[in-house]
Amino acid sequence: MHTKTITELAKSLRAKEFSSVELTHAYLDRIKQYSELNSFITVTEEQALTAANAADKALSLGNAPLLTGIPIAQKDIFCTYGVKTSCGSKMLDNFIAPYNATVVEKFNQAGAVMLGKLNMDEFAMGSSNETSFYGAVQNPWDINTVAGGSSGGSAAAVAARLAVAVTGTDTGGSIRQPAALCGITGLKPTYGRVSRYGMIAYASSLDQGGPMARNAEDAALLLQAMAGFDPKDSTSVDAPVPDYQESLTNSLAGLKIGLPKQFFSADLNPEIAKTLQAAIAEYQRLGAEVKEISMPMLEYAIPAYYVIASAECSANLSRYDGVRFGYRCDNPQDLTDLYTRSRGEAFGAEVKRRILMGTYALSAGYYDAYYLKAQKVRKLISDDFKRAFSEVDVIMGPVSPSTAFGIGEKIADPIEMYLADIYTIAINLAGLPALSIPAGFVNAMPVGLQIIGNYFDEARLLNVAHQYQQETDWHKQTPKGFE
Ligand code: GLN
Repeated sequence: MHTKTITELAKSLRAKEFSSVELTHAYLDRIKQYSELNSFITVTEEQALTAANAADKALSLGNAPLLTGIPIAQKDIFCTYGVKTSCGSKMLDNFIAPYNATVVEKFNQAGAVMLGKLNMDEFAMGSSNETSFYGAVQNPWDINTVAGGSSGGSAAAVAARLAVAVTGTDTGGSIRQPAALCGITGLKPTYGRVSRYGMIAYASSLDQGGPMARNAEDAALLLQAMAGFDPKDSTSVDAPVPDYQESLTNSLAGLKIGLPKQFFSADLNPEIAKTLQAAIAEYQRLGAEVKEISMPMLEYAIPAYYVIASAECSANLSRYDGVRFGYRCDNPQDLTDLYTRSRGEAFGAEVKRRILMGTYALSAGYYDAYYLKAQKVRKLISDDFKRAFSEVDVIMGPVSPSTAFGIGEKIADPIEMYLADIYTIAINLAGLPALSIPAGFVNAMPVGLQIIGNYFDEARLLNVAHQYQQETDWHKQTPKGFE
């Protein structure tokens, strides 16, 4: 059962080949069998079986929505009523969410079955899932390497077939990068497409939830359930949600693909470059036209992002004060002691580093030099994309400068780790949608192709990804030992 995609599972459930309860049991067994991957923080076995039972009843009545009875899992950044929602941090290790995030609510309404909550970098800060309070996630393609971050548990779970599809969030690459390193399909929607209500905030102007799945067709089904205006999120956009299935089969004849020369410079690993060239050649065979473009501001994306993201996180994380919820230190002497020890004991090193950087960048006297300057750079980066999209329909490039690196290899060097985001964060600064699809292997490790679209052009991205997946089978490969 675990080898099937959502579309196939939905058919099998309706043909009564197996029930949702049987399917859920099969996945729960696999989650136990492969617990060493560390992709789940919490497994909600009892709730899952209750939901699967209800799904079976709904299915027997007919007319149930397509996701009815499909086992998925949520990144542990989404609040789930009555279930621990840790955000990968000791700070929230004891936090039981009193309400559902809108995304979780939407999946419940669609009849999906939640298997549990997925491991992630602490407060989504990281590129390797190694900053999690619950430890690193192993990449199923090579358990000595990272699964990518911050949605590492999400990507590993799909790659190892522990859930058919999952959610992730992407502030600077956290859906696309782990998707690339684990050989799955991950889509970061346009900022505002998916509600952030109940999604624990890291950097509010950049955070966006999205689907991670085996292929573009499944990602389209997930996005259909997740997308849409939410009056509870003032940054969600009130624009109609298209039918993402309908456009999957559109022809790519005449599609204009832009290749930024800054993405394909000499810095790009030659093996990865070769893999991507082959993918682009496949698109040309499908009728697409390729054009070199230039986006000179891309090189400033990393410094601008790390100033803005840190500034926003320093404000967002001020709510964890040891008073209202989350971790509280033992025997505080006074209020200052309560604040400083609760935060000092419960935040990990990377989170503290970001809070310090952000507070510094926002402080009087430095605000203009760092934060304001970074915001100006952000505008120039958006302008680069605007210019590009006046000439081309989509932009293609790498997702990550390397395939999955060894666990422990980069964690001591934050700058080195930040550089892993070089190809993904400009997209968040501009608020654009982008996805990563499996495009081949280098030394038996997956390589992702990034496809960036114009605002609210998710349907086209999924179409472009789906057409490629009709011609190739990179996305069908399963890591050895997880078949
Ligand atoms: N690696 C980036 C960071 O650490 C992006 C993380 C994310 O997208 N959540 O901030």
